[in-house]
Amino acid sequence: MKYGEFDSASLMYITNRPEILFERGEGSWLYDAQGKAYLDFVQGWAVNCLGHSPAEVRDAIVAQAGKLINPSPAFYNGPMIELAGLLTAHCSLDRVFFANTGAEANEGAIKLARKWGRLHRNGAYQIITFEHSFHGRTLATMSASGKAGWDTLFAPQVPGFPKARLNDLESVKALIGPETVAVMLEPVQGEGGVIPAAPEFLQALRALTREHGILLIVDEVQSGMGRTGRLFAHQHAGIEPDIMTLGKGIGGGVPLSALLATEAVSCFEAGDQGGTYNGNPLMTAAGIAVMRRLTAPGFLDEVLARGDYLAARLRELVAKRHLVGERGSGLLRALVLDSDRAPAIVKAALEGAPTGLLLNAPRPNLLRFMPSLTVSEAEIDQMVEMLDALLG
Ligand SMILES: *Cc1c(COP(=O)(O)O)cnc(C)c1O
Repeated sequence: MKYGEFDSASLMYITNRPEILFERGEGSWLYDAQGKAYLDFVQGWAVNCLGHSPAEVRDAIVAQAGKLINPSPAFYNGPMIELAGLLTAHCSLDRVFFANTGAEANEGAIKLARKWGRLHRNGAYQIITFEHSFHGRTLATMSASGKAGWDTLFAPQVPGFPKARLNDLESVKALIGPETVAVMLEPVQGEGGVIPAAPEFLQALRALTREHGILLIVDEVQSGMGRTGRLFAHQHAGIEPDIMTLGKGIGGGVPLSALLATEAVSCFEAGDQGGTYNGNPLMTAAGIAVMRRLTAPGFLDEVLARGDYLAARLRELVAKRHLVGERGSGLLRALVLDSDRAPAIVKAALEGAPTGLLLNAPRPNLLRFMPSLTVSEAEIDQMVEMLDALLG
């Protein structure tokens, strides 16, 4: 695709992008170079939790850029301290390490668990993860992921990630041995097709890991930051993990992620963990703006209400179009179709005229919905109307 005197052929090929150039975004809407509007129910894969270019995030970035962008991660800065305090005030964890991507936060979680295993469990290093899970695209997080085919892609894998089955406690028990240091899971499997871990399963997993003296790690990169109507999805089950990772929504669209742990587990020594951009004030200022909005009185109740509304509207489509069903938590939802036509629907929705619709198909028979947490009922109605026409 041409852009002025330049050509997209200079970009390294990694995926088939449509021939669309997005120029501007506002709330639930994106606009391309021709001025065509698209209703966005993907939001950068659940990243833009307050929609496109929200005023508070924009203002926070502009104000911070005028003051200080990067003193170096080896020094304190105000926004880094403030955001860590806001996060720990709203969950059961005590310490925060900031990074740039979800994968990097998960790498940190894996390193922290292995370090803790070295210190407290005779060098135990195995982390039990789950089939169909997704933890990122670095070598270790790909190895931790349970995505089909990823065990041979870029082989050899990083060892130490035996796979259990979600919502099957016996499959976890069968894998626990002297080398086990932790169990790691997404409270709602996102890329796997929006499959929630049952609250009873999370509670049983917490009891089981305590009984064996091993760690429980929750990857809340997708399910955290208000996505499910609680600030963090594991809070629905009333459990307290040892380690939690955050990404996506935490920066409201900018590269920011976090690794959180209890005081007892925070065992890094100087030099064990770091990174050039970690905790820089430009990104953490954006994170503060996001946290302040998400924790404002009533905000999460609204997310729950709109999640229920989206679910109800999707169930109407299931009945009307004879689909398989609807599932999810809060504003992370999926519609299970009657056949493998999800990719074709995603393409037709994008090409819709005069208005396009952005949807995602993590599986061929499944559509995933990750709208802005500020999406309106009218926007949900409009999406359902457009989708209904595509399903007909
Ligand atoms: C997206 C995602 C990641 C990876 O995050 P990146 O920022 O792409 O590295 C990790 N875990 C889960 C659950 C995710 O959804």
